[in-house]
Amino acid sequence: MLYQRKISGAELLAAKLELHLHHARFALVGAHAVGVAAVVALLWFQASDVLLLSWAVAMLTLLLVHSMRMSGALEGERFIRGRFSVYVELIASAVLLGVAWSSTVFWLDGILSDQMFYLLLLIVTIISVVAVAVTSVVREVYMANLFATLIPVATWLAWHYDVRAFNLMLAALLTALSLLMALASGWMSRSFGDMIQSSLEREAMNHDFAELSESLRLKNQQLQEARQQLADIATIDELTGLKNRRGANQVFETEISRARRAGFSLAIIMLDVDHFKLYNDTYGHPSGDLVLQKLAEVLMGVTSRAGELAVRMGGEEFMMILPGSTSGDAMSTAEAVRERVAALKMPHASSPTGEFVSVSQGVVACVPGMKTEISDLIDAADRALYDSKDGGRNAITLSAYTPS
Ligand code: GH3
Ligand code: MG
Ligand code: MG
Repeated sequence: MLYQRKISGAELLAAKLELHLHHARFALVGAHAVGVAAVVALLWFQASDVLLLSWAVAMLTLLLVHSMRMSGALEGERFIRGRFSVYVELIASAVLLGVAWSSTVFWLDGILSDQMFYLLLLIVTIISVVAVAVTSVVREVYMANLFATLIPVATWLAWHYDVRAFNLMLAALLTALSLLMALASGWMSRSFGDMIQSSLEREAMNHDFAELSESLRLKNQQLQEARQQLADIATIDELTGLKNRRGANQVFETEISRARRAGFSLAIIMLDVDHFKLYNDTYGHPSGDLVLQKLAEVLMGVTSRAGELAVRMGGEEFMMILPGSTSGDAMSTAEAVRERVAALKMPHASSPTGEFVSVSQGVVACVPGMKTEISDLIDAADRALYDSKDGGRNAITLSAYTPS
């Protein structure tokens, strides 16, 4: 077997009790009640009315109480927590019912005609036989009933063998029947037990599988999240938090085709820190990192409109993509960047350009044609940037690029 789950004895007993209570509270009590009714009908003209009715009321009361106690145990789920007391109570009730029937037989022995007495025996026997189907889930309950009903009646008949012609024969028959019923209840109880055991195992297995699939689902979700984080890490620059070139590629493609379709202008600004090598040499690499981070903040500040994006292209080179911006708009943005960088007043003592850190920019803007690629715009912006460098740095150059 691939999978096996051990079911405890307590669990099995609780399940057996539940099944027993479920069936017996109506079926068993019903069978006994039919027996009581049959006896009343049988003896209506034979025994005293008062005595007979008192007997019937006593029996029915006993059955009603028994049925109600069983229902209570079932609904209050006492068969789980108080299973031992329910078990003992069921055995005690089985003995009590058995004694009630065998005493009835002893009481009526002197009162009834032979024929009626044998009919009474038949009723008692039928009830015992019917009970096996209902009560043998918990075999001890059936055995208790059998030992309190048929065995005492058989003994009684054997003891009074000379009172009626068939007493001895009936005593033998009832004894044999009791033995057979004891064996049958054993077989039935075992089958019920196996059935319950496998149903509990199946239930436990389903429960375990549900837990397993839930934990797999969680693991899968964690995996997805980790994968997403990895993807983000791969597309985001660690130092500045801006998208890196790889992360921006998708945005470039989307924006250029949107601009192409809608026929609106798209601008790109390429930006490079002036004399940054000298900065590093003068102030150290960590201070250079701080400059890059401040610059990234400036670029994020000026690209706050939907679709605008600042990208760290590598080293101290940045790019801004501005969908919807004309060359005039883009020049204003570049000027805003230049002013904000200047306003930061980051000292750069070794710069031949000025006393503070400055940036050079190259701007390109156009309505992209059918054949315009993003690389054409980047190249044009790059060339404009190097014109700014050649022109003395801390400058902005607008590219004359027009799409083919
Ligand atoms: P130019 O004005 O012509 O652009 O001169 P430059 O010195 O800025 O240009 P160059 O390409 O010669 O030097 C770029 C420098 O940028 C060299 C490199 O050490 C520095 N750099 C690149 N990435 C980083 C970084 O992540 N942190 C720091 N602190 N420095 C960086
Ligand atoms: Mg530089
Ligand atoms: Mg550079």
